[in-house]
Amino acid sequence: MIGIHIRIMERGIKGVRLNQNLIPTTESIYKLIQELNKLPGIGPKSAQRLAYHLLRAPEEQAKLLADAILSIKRKTKLCSVCFNVTDADPCSICRNNQRDRTKICIVEQPQDILALEHTRIYHGLYHVLHGAISPTEGVGTDDIKIKELMNRLQAGSIDEVILATNPNLEGEQTALYLSQLISPLGIRVTRLARGLPFGTELEYADDVTLTQAIEGRQEF
Ligand SMILES: [Zn+2]
Repeated sequence: MIGIHIRIMERGIKGVRLNQNLIPTTESIYKLIQELNKLPGIGPKSAQRLAYHLLRAPEEQAKLLADAILSIKRKTKLCSVCFNVTDADPCSICRNNQRDRTKICIVEQPQDILALEHTRIYHGLYHVLHGAISPTEGVGTDDIKIKELMNRLQAGSIDEVILATNPNLEGEQTALYLSQLISPLGIRVTRLARGLPFGTELEYADDVTLTQAIEGRQEF
């Protein structure tokens, strides 16, 4: 797709060859399209659209974007307590004395914290595993932050662990493994409720979701 597009650009509109001086510009756009296309969720079409948007945008806007990208690589690190991405260690959540320090919510990725924080309903602490157990992809229990979690729990101030791993095979395996590991410590282990997403119509729900929704039904 990109190759075709570039060939069209080189030939120019209506088949007229572009001025040779323009070809380096074409190459730089091509490079940007290639890089954008490597990002998750960005297909060739979106990559092209973004590249041409940036080409038209003021230089200052492009610079702000480039600086923001470099700064997440240069300035951020992982919180040494919860393994969230942070500019300062410990992170703002771990430092915050207003948070409920008796609860830890276990998530797979730092961006899951953003989603949960957005609900404003949870005020406890977090622990980021940085993955989920997946024998098929060769991710074992030592490859994610389980040992670090157990160290935190053994400190003794936690009375509930909320398993918020993804509702898929790997997330379920990880949640099951963690519950077996944590329950003997006398800590309450809970799992996020599963069921129908808001706005869904029953006839379109898959069997697993519908089964979980029936099993997880609550008093009305
Ligand atoms: Zn933290």
